[in-house]
Amino acid sequence: MKFETLATQGFIDLKKQNHAVSTPIYANTAYSFDSIEHALNLFDLKVEGDIYSRLSNPSNDMIEKRIAALEGGVGALATSSGQSAVLITILNIAQCGDEIITSSKIYGGTYNLFSKTFKQMGIKFIFIDSDNLEDYENAITDKTKCIYTETLGNPSIKVADIEGLANIAHKHGIPLVVDNTVPTPYLCRPIEFGADIIVHSTTKYISGHGNAMGGIIVDSGKFDWSQNDKFPMYTEPDESYHGIIYTKEFGNMAFIVKSRAHLVRDLGCIQSPFNAYLTQLGLESLHVRMERHCENAMKVAKHLEKHPHINFVNYPYLESSPDYKLAQKYLKHGASSLIGFGVNGDGTKFIEALNLFIHATNLGDVRSVITYPAGTTHRQLSAEQKIRAGITDDFMRASIGLENIDDIIEDLENAIRISRT
Ligand SMILES: *Cc1c(COP(=O)(O)O)cnc(C)c1O
Repeated sequence: MKFETLATQGFIDLKKQNHAVSTPIYANTAYSFDSIEHALNLFDLKVEGDIYSRLSNPSNDMIEKRIAALEGGVGALATSSGQSAVLITILNIAQCGDEIITSSKIYGGTYNLFSKTFKQMGIKFIFIDSDNLEDYENAITDKTKCIYTETLGNPSIKVADIEGLANIAHKHGIPLVVDNTVPTPYLCRPIEFGADIIVHSTTKYISGHGNAMGGIIVDSGKFDWSQNDKFPMYTEPDESYHGIIYTKEFGNMAFIVKSRAHLVRDLGCIQSPFNAYLTQLGLESLHVRMERHCENAMKVAKHLEKHPHINFVNYPYLESSPDYKLAQKYLKHGASSLIGFGVNGDGTKFIEALNLFIHATNLGDVRSVITYPAGTTHRQLSAEQKIRAGITDDFMRASIGLENIDDIIEDLENAIRISRT
């Protein structure tokens, strides 16, 4: 099945859902066992099935199957938020004493998780400032367990060289993890370029209507966790499951099975079935929405690019973008709807003069949303950290929505004018 068909009809089993055309919500906590033997087999991971909704649930299963297929992976795990998808992914790869290499230009929430919480847990992140692949490779040590990147960095809107990073990671026997939130699998399928694990905040474009927190982890099934002695969590017995060895028992599903059976079991950050239901509704129109998000964003980017009172425009599909070549390689139908730009005027006045753009910290909503990172999300960063994250005082980040393009541009024009009064 092609993307659009998978997104709308993939994995529906009408008989299993009482012939209901739209998949219902399974608002269940627990699932009954057929027999003692059935229960034991479920607990020993010998048969598939639902036990308790902290582990799995049919509503979650639907989005997991669809998004795994859309990304080209072997399995997925829906989590309570994008943050918890990142948390589970890292804990499923690294332990105290390990190191991970990433870019300094990543999403602010991920930056905090990496630089503070994981540091407290003894997992060290090395933040690379440049886009130079050699700098990533030079940072690898015996302790390095993965490279982590974002297809489209948020908020600085950089395009990652996924294939280049995957080659380096694989040369050193470690996986590449890619946060694919901003392009979604409709615009980019990082697994095709060598990425091993994909994470998403489904809160953004995938659910798309600004009403459901969620995250998802997709396993490509391509990384061999037993190729070296770097990942003992996979090759040594797990005593909490009668000594199973994940790579032996689950082969190319080892990562995604362990993320659920071990980490979500223990940490509890599973997606709620209600949110999975909303996420599924969003997913069913993802391809249509992404087309219009990209079309509107391109028009806004072109308009601002030639504007006398705009200091710069950051949109990877503009030919003037330093990332234009990478964008053409990695992003299929457009560069999603995040645009960065600098207003030559008073930033606060600009934000407050907007009527149609909603001032909020979100992206990927059907409505146009604007954030002023230097004044809000990145306020807690030091001046030096702001520069490292590519945030200047005039920098605005807009997520262009699905409103009429003339209304969007008129709202921006009006606010630019007022910002200069
Ligand atoms: C929002 C976001 C996250 C975190 O997701 P939540 O759903 O807010 O927890 C992670 N990565 C990127 C790129 C994001 O935009």
